[in-house]
Amino acid sequence: MAHVAIGKPLPSKPVLLTFDDGSAAQYTRALPLLRRHHFVATFFPMTVVLDKPGWLTSGQVRTLDRAGMTIGAHTFDHHAVPDYAGEDWDTQLVAPAAKLARLVGHPVRLFAYPFGLWDREAFAHLDRSGYVAAFQLADKLDRADPLWTLRRIIVPELSGEDLLRRLRREF
Ligand SMILES: [Zn+2]
Repeated sequence: MAHVAIGKPLPSKPVLLTFDDGSAAQYTRALPLLRRHHFVATFFPMTVVLDKPGWLTSGQVRTLDRAGMTIGAHTFDHHAVPDYAGEDWDTQLVAPAAKLARLVGHPVRLFAYPFGLWDREAFAHLDRSGYVAAFQLADKLDRADPLWTLRRIIVPELSGEDLLRRLRREF
């Protein structure tokens, strides 16, 4: 964030690992791999799925946080941000952050747009809801508001070699 906001130099080979939605495998499969390689990652569960079969439990979210992972919000139920109106902002931005903050015992400051879909109207709502940065997917980072448009590559469909090639080409 300091790099994007004020140009602070990055460490060598900087990579952020993020996991969206909150499937149970993120705890059972990803966490052991992360620990084995001494990596940390950020998890963005939707709150509607917590404690449902096949999804993260509240306890697992807490354990991820305690294991040094970062917990961010990914809305209540994955509706696309550009469609929000009225109470949607509370339901999808404010309530999930509050629920996750109660679970982990400290504020939740990061957000991931469902489907990577964002629009400029959302920035003020995100700010007002206590977030400090938001992750999208394929669009170019918005130079005017870089912290609200952090870009990511979807990895599961890429081989390791292809991922390295894309990292070198695009970042
Ligand atoms: Zn998602």
